[in-house]
Amino acid sequence: MKTANSKKKLHTNELAVSELILNLNSKLIEFFGKPRKISKSNPLDILIATILSQNTNDINSHKAFLSLKSEFPDYNSIINVSQKKLQNVIKVAGLAQKKCKTIKNFLTKLEKDKGELSLNFLKKYSNEDAIKFLTSFKGIGVKTASCVLLFGMNRNVCPVDTHVFRVINRVGIINHYDRDKTFFKLSEILPKKIAYEFHTNIIKLGRSICTSKNPSCNICPIFEFCSYQKKSKSKQQNVNSKKRNVDFMLLDNV
Ligand code: SF4
Repeated sequence: MKTANSKKKLHTNELAVSELILNLNSKLIEFFGKPRKISKSNPLDILIATILSQNTNDINSHKAFLSLKSEFPDYNSIINVSQKKLQNVIKVAGLAQKKCKTIKNFLTKLEKDKGELSLNFLKKYSNEDAIKFLTSFKGIGVKTASCVLLFGMNRNVCPVDTHVFRVINRVGIINHYDRDKTFFKLSEILPKKIAYEFHTNIIKLGRSICTSKNPSCNICPIFEFCSYQKKSKSKQQNVNSKKRNVDFMLLDNV
């Protein structure tokens, strides 16, 4: 993984892929607009919100986060609260038992190891070390850790969720069956300062146009760059309705 201090030089084909990403990014901004810049976020809030967002939709995960913050404005109080009580507070997000264990385990160990419930110390870490630290906790994977880096620390990394994974494989930016390896490969070639807008717009594309079944290639803004063998221009669809249907809450609401 490329870090802030990495001196690694990109190979010619990697440079071509970086150029491709820049072109895709421009086309996506033309189509969806430039995502509004996130306000400064607390990395620990982003971590908790991302854990709550696993396997559920934005609306329910956001409700669960608001419910948790309203019930426990101070994360210290979560450490000693009963499993049952916490589960009840976050139940709207689903998988409450598992998420409750992950959150309680993380906060308890963080408090014990660092003496305070804050992730601000990660700001001094390289991307690689921050991900290594976060993923050492049970229930926290590379995608969750990379969300903390992007949304909570403004790092130039693109978390690979199901939509990002599908789109970048179809387009041909990276061809890998493993999501985590896809993330690390993408991190090496991602041009500077585009991660937030690229990530956000790729998700919008994946949710509205490059869907898992029957992608609407005929209205796709990046059709000309896409290497997907099954891409098709056959169906006629209303492009404006697709644009309207992509408003969603990312972690910028946290
Ligand atoms: S052309 Fe089709 S397959 Fe390629 S990115 Fe667009 S919607 Fe997805």
